[in-house]
Amino acid sequence: MINPLMTGNAPAADVQDLESLGICALKRGQYFSSMPEYYVDRDQAKCIKCLVCVRQCPYEATFYSAEMNIVTNRHENCINCRRCEAMCPTKCIRIKRWGSGFRPNEHWTEKHIRSLYKQADTGGVLLTGCGNDLYYSTYFDRIVLDASQVTNPSIDPLREPMELRTFVGRKAERIDPSGNGQGKPSTQKFPNLVCETPIIFAPMSFGAISYNFQEGLAIAASEAGTYFDTGEGGLHPNFYKYGKRAIVQVASGRFGVSADYLRSAAAVEIKIGQGAKPGIGGHLPGEKVTAEISRTRMIPEGSDAISPAPQHDIYSIEDLRLLIYAIKEATEYTVPISVKIAAVHNVAAIASGIVRAGADIVVIDGFRGGTGAAPTIIRDHVGIPVELALAQVDQRLRDEGIRHLASIIAAGGIRNSADVVKAIALGADAVYIGTAAMLAVGCTLCQQCHRGKCAWGITTNRSDLLPRLPIDYAAERLSNLLHAWSHEVKEMLGLMGLNSIESLRGNRLKLRAVGMTEEESRILGITHAGI
Ligand code: SF4
Ligand code: SF4
Ligand code: SF4
Repeated sequence: MINPLMTGNAPAADVQDLESLGICALKRGQYFSSMPEYYVDRDQAKCIKCLVCVRQCPYEATFYSAEMNIVTNRHENCINCRRCEAMCPTKCIRIKRWGSGFRPNEHWTEKHIRSLYKQADTGGVLLTGCGNDLYYSTYFDRIVLDASQVTNPSIDPLREPMELRTFVGRKAERIDPSGNGQGKPSTQKFPNLVCETPIIFAPMSFGAISYNFQEGLAIAASEAGTYFDTGEGGLHPNFYKYGKRAIVQVASGRFGVSADYLRSAAAVEIKIGQGAKPGIGGHLPGEKVTAEISRTRMIPEGSDAISPAPQHDIYSIEDLRLLIYAIKEATEYTVPISVKIAAVHNVAAIASGIVRAGADIVVIDGFRGGTGAAPTIIRDHVGIPVELALAQVDQRLRDEGIRHLASIIAAGGIRNSADVVKAIALGADAVYIGTAAMLAVGCTLCQQCHRGKCAWGITTNRSDLLPRLPIDYAAERLSNLLHAWSHEVKEMLGLMGLNSIESLRGNRLKLRAVGMTEEESRILGITHAGI
């Protein structure tokens, strides 16, 4: 039979004719679902039909077929969270890339094609979780550390004291040698965070993350002598006991903000921006706003929690100053006030204004920073690398003679202790870690945090999924991570001939660039390797 569509002047055939020929239009949603990204490969010979994988999969990607008497799959639902792999008692499941068969195309990559199909299917903005995963340069990977050899010998941290204690906040202008007539030199004291390690848990709000994960962060921070950050979601009443280890946020939505909240914490952070989504607000869907979250955020249960893009009372540095000093008044000048911004163009000038407005800490959040939910297109194309922003902010504050007025915390994609050391040498006093903390408790970076079904109990509060992350298990793994990284930081300080983290801060002589242009090295303020 001649295919009427091949003749070039096809008659207006009705749908019935075409379907009888096997030629019909795909139905709504079929483009995307007919091309799964992942393939659940189950060895049926080893499968004992225990249905563990069925119960463990929150995405309904695997099910029991009574008709065939096998456990089988809806591959198109699989998001490669790997929960089933981990839990299968016979280890007979492997998640594989489907192998899309798209014709290789350096311009129209598979990611572009899939995103486009999905938007044509749904007409919606594509959301994602976690940080920017595109092929931008990671400058940390092109920076190497110095090591002592003959002169200025290295120090063995197992045999000699090594100081990691870090004071985060404003420092005194000068020492008063007269000591106010008391006989010994004195300095004006400002409230500081005292961190036993320069690693702080990044802002992650209850609602975006689970109750158990947040309590795990609080316990681990308390044990290690560092801090966790509530993010913009308020502080659950049960967590006030961790207040002395908490940094609480005041964000544009003002969720959970009260006088008690501000006074309960070790520091208050004004959130202006987030590295993963600079310039836009946030949205926690109503279905995620459970009774506990509504109590913590002080909003009705089931209502959408929307944070506007700007703080509606801040349109200038002067406005920011008013808010900083309002919070200082509310907390009776007993805690440092932090201002968190996303790393964007001209970040050094912005940071200078923030410090002059009275902030004690400036947080610079780079574009690799994670998120509970963001439009993929914004996450992947807005903001700049934290390494460049950090180096410029530190240099600007030094050049202006105001570096002592505020500490700098670097955030956004810190992956290991070497990144910590490099960030501090580039000018940070301390770093935030968020994604690294999630990975420590089992995250597989499936980037589905926004769906509220995290298979590992990290970014969900669904009653059936929450117990998958026991609080003590989370706390132990986070403590281990802090302990391991802190030890490695000491080792790296020792090999550079330094015995304190203070000696490393902004010490770019300890860094060298590998494979960078002159312009990149200039912005980072470091010399090329070999010199
Ligand atoms: S968990 Fe493993 S053994 Fe059990 S049903 Fe699934 S694939 Fe089969
Ligand atoms: S548990 Fe995760 S990896 Fe396994 S089938 Fe479901 S979505 Fe895929
Ligand atoms: S926290 Fe959960 S949902 Fe988010 S990336 Fe990790 S495993 Fe996936």
